[in-house]
Amino acid sequence: MERIGHFIGGKVVPGESGRAGPVYNPATGEQTHEVAFADPAEVDQAVEAAREAFPGWRATSLSKRSDILFRIRELLDERRRDVALEITRQHGKVLSDAMGEVARALENVEFACGVPHLLKGGFTEQASTGVDVYSIRQPLGVVAGITPFNFPAMVPVWMFANAIACGNAFVLKPSEKDPGASLVLADILKEAGVPDGVFNVVQGDRVVVDRLLEHPDVEAVSFVGSTPVATHIYETGTRNGKRVQALGGAKNHMVVLPDADVDMAADAAVSAAYGSAGERCMAISVVVTVGDVAEPLIRGILDRLPNVRIGDGLEPSSEMGPLVTREHRDRVAGYLDAAREQGATLAADGREHELYRSSDGFFLGVSLLDRVTPEMDCYRDEIFGPVLSVVRARDYDEALRVVNENPYGNGTAIFTRDGGAARQFQFDVNVGMVGVNVPIPVPVGYYSFGGWKRSMFGDTHMYGPDGIHFYTRAKVVTARWPDPATSQVDLGFPRTR
Ligand code: NAD
Repeated sequence: MERIGHFIGGKVVPGESGRAGPVYNPATGEQTHEVAFADPAEVDQAVEAAREAFPGWRATSLSKRSDILFRIRELLDERRRDVALEITRQHGKVLSDAMGEVARALENVEFACGVPHLLKGGFTEQASTGVDVYSIRQPLGVVAGITPFNFPAMVPVWMFANAIACGNAFVLKPSEKDPGASLVLADILKEAGVPDGVFNVVQGDRVVVDRLLEHPDVEAVSFVGSTPVATHIYETGTRNGKRVQALGGAKNHMVVLPDADVDMAADAAVSAAYGSAGERCMAISVVVTVGDVAEPLIRGILDRLPNVRIGDGLEPSSEMGPLVTREHRDRVAGYLDAAREQGATLAADGREHELYRSSDGFFLGVSLLDRVTPEMDCYRDEIFGPVLSVVRARDYDEALRVVNENPYGNGTAIFTRDGGAARQFQFDVNVGMVGVNVPIPVPVGYYSFGGWKRSMFGDTHMYGPDGIHFYTRAKVVTARWPDPATSQVDLGFPRTR
């Protein structure tokens, strides 16, 4: 069986720990690869390669670095399909969706191409007589990224594009469920001229993560994944003196006001809930209907469900693929009976889909749960599958309360024709990313991405300007070029003159 190895010091290495895990094609259920799991000594080799590469990379001029980033952009653009195929074969999402993932990753590289501008500091002339003050931002050193299965290319790029642009050396720990894309990215970076050791990949599980969190040469850790792991990463990393940004799970609500265009809202709910089989951190998992929009909206959603074409992501006709693993699919399906037992109405049951019954792939059809209330497990937990819940609220205040009392605060959206109501929602809601008639408001590459509350730990969001901030630290220089004739001893506290 083909083995997926590590990328250390510019070379693909098979890994010698004796530990490995299976990688499946979720559409067929077959194991297609084995992925090496690094041991702590192999993690140390990657960190050491990065540590050695850092001084040279840091000293490389900004114009040279941005030149390499432009080449990464061109190569990633040329090889979009290679990356997307790797994603579809191991994650399961349909190829068009995987191509969309790569397109969003490209935005992050394009942003990082502007690094000479992004690293400009400030300068104050004559802060005191004959004294100038200026600020510069410098890279941290070796930084690590730990990424989830659901965006095996885009989330690594969120991190490493800015990290290396700023002059850091990077160690990536991809998800062990779909590690293939990480090596295509490594190949692109090498071909683009990123020096050996500046970008490394170590495959594996918790053993790798824990070694990165305790390694004294790792200065900062970026994490994206589930909330329980995000809290572990944040607590352990900060305790060990590292800078940490840890993005966690989500429960994203779409509030639909009575004046909304019902067809548009139904289209948006179906697209945002079931796209990528609901395995997006910005997927809509709860629709909150306000007042009497509930009945027509639910009818609109149910009318659309039979038309969602489910199948192998490599089939051009498929709109939704399988889930990532059998265990995950079964866990998602398990919420359906539990929800019914707790009082929800199972308005559409994804287990009735023929691929759920007959295929060896990890398929589940689309499900709709109505009359869900915040105490139910299907509401409290992040299901991360093609299950949409409907919570019926009497009025705007109740809908807002539902959203704001939820412990997560990643994304949310409001559907309305009333600009004033939308503006009030934007003002009131305790969520990091808000859509107005846009169900999945992922910020473009020159803004930053991040949720609030239990969806994000740390204070610096991912990519965009916050990414530059995270991967650099500020230095302020106060300089005088004095006339030796004016020099004298002065024990007073420095003050401006
Ligand atoms: P996960 O938390 O299980 O895994 C994420 C990474 O952490 C993987 O690399 C994994 O190997 C590692 N890991 C897993 N368990 C660990 C442990 N106990 N100790 C140390 N490391 C561990 O997440 P996942 O299932 O791969 O991805 C789905 C989750 O990611 C969902 O909760 C989703 O909402 C979240 N997510 C969030 C965002 C965001 O921007 N907030 C984006 C994408 C995904």
